[in-house]
Amino acid sequence: MAYYNTCPNCGANLDPGEPCDCDTERKHREEFYKSVTRKKSRNGQLSFSFSKEVTGYEKTAY
Ligand SMILES: [Zn+2]
Repeated sequence: MAYYNTCPNCGANLDPGEPCDCDTERKHREEFYKSVTRKKSRNGQLSFSFSKEVTGYEKTAY
């Protein structure tokens, strides 16, 4: 009886519901790439709000 899943990417034996490390890493990379792409496309808006936050923090610090 085999109560484990086999990773379709690397063939590793996994517990039921356990994601393989290689799949997780790939998803993380995809999410990271997506977030980077998103940040790039909204670069002006993001950097604007960030500089506002930094300015407010600096004012509070002073
Ligand atoms: Zn795998």
